[in-house]
Amino acid sequence: MNLTINNLSKTYSNGVQALDNVSLTIPNGLFGLLGPNGAGKSTLMRTIATLQEADEGEVWLDNIDVLQQKHEIKQILGYLPQEFGFYPKDRAISLLDQLSMLKGIKNKTDRRAVVEYLLKKVNLWDARKQRIGTFSGGMKQRFGIAQALLGNPKLIIVDEPTAGLDPYERRRFHNLLAEIGKDVIVILSTHIVDDVSNLCTNMAIIDNGKILLQTHPGEIIKEFVAKIWEKDVTGVNMEDFEKEYHVISTRLFAGKIFVRVFNETDPGEGFRSVEPILEDVYFYTLSTRS
Ligand code: ADP
Repeated sequence: MNLTINNLSKTYSNGVQALDNVSLTIPNGLFGLLGPNGAGKSTLMRTIATLQEADEGEVWLDNIDVLQQKHEIKQILGYLPQEFGFYPKDRAISLLDQLSMLKGIKNKTDRRAVVEYLLKKVNLWDARKQRIGTFSGGMKQRFGIAQALLGNPKLIIVDEPTAGLDPYERRRFHNLLAEIGKDVIVILSTHIVDDVSNLCTNMAIIDNGKILLQTHPGEIIKEFVAKIWEKDVTGVNMEDFEKEYHVISTRLFAGKIFVRVFNETDPGEGFRSVEPILEDVYFYTLSTRS
């Protein structure tokens, strides 16, 4: 299965152009849509989920015209929005049962089986009788995935799902996404580079409504080998330094300031070569945008 996005554009009534001629091809597996806040990720996710209209462009899921055949898409779509409204007093098991009814699973025995299967899959079976309002952030997100999986979706959209999760919950959520992402299309929008480097086989970087890069994380990193250099710049005048070097990131470690720069060859001057990581690709791409 392939999701093909052709020349999608959207300008809100306040004049903000959230999508600017976006084209992407997304195959089965986990696809990471990476970009800073305000880049246009949610607008793109909501448009694909048929929750809002684009001004121009087309989206195809194989031969389904997504923006026109909304009913067909809703049958095979699982969506976890950025803000998922729960009824805090509902218990996990009864809320998932209600949601499965809304999804069209009419038979009570079928529903019971599906709800049990999904709560076990997202590791919430033991908490099934707990009220959702008492769940941690990670438990809420896992519940969100359970509801997104109702009805065996072929296309799953998760919008900024790991924001606010602690490292343990994030890892657990990553494992869950990796498991479900094998046979269907999962689009994960995030501003967290680690979400993409740990999980995704394909990715794109978006900023100001424009796709800056579509690539495979493993392949693009190879192109940065021997081009990323690090140096301790504690006490150095950064303004002068930045005029001389293409600085892509700065980090503090043990009270010292380290910079990573992009340079095709060894800059000398005490720089040491470091292994590139996806974050280098991300910051480099954002720094070279026009
Ligand atoms: P992201 O999900 O990457 O943070 P969004 O798609 O939410 O980005 O927003 C992209 C841009 O569109 C931002 O500048 C945002 O302020 C603007 N925007 C989003 N929704 C609306 C709206 N309903 N009306 C006006 N502007 C909006």
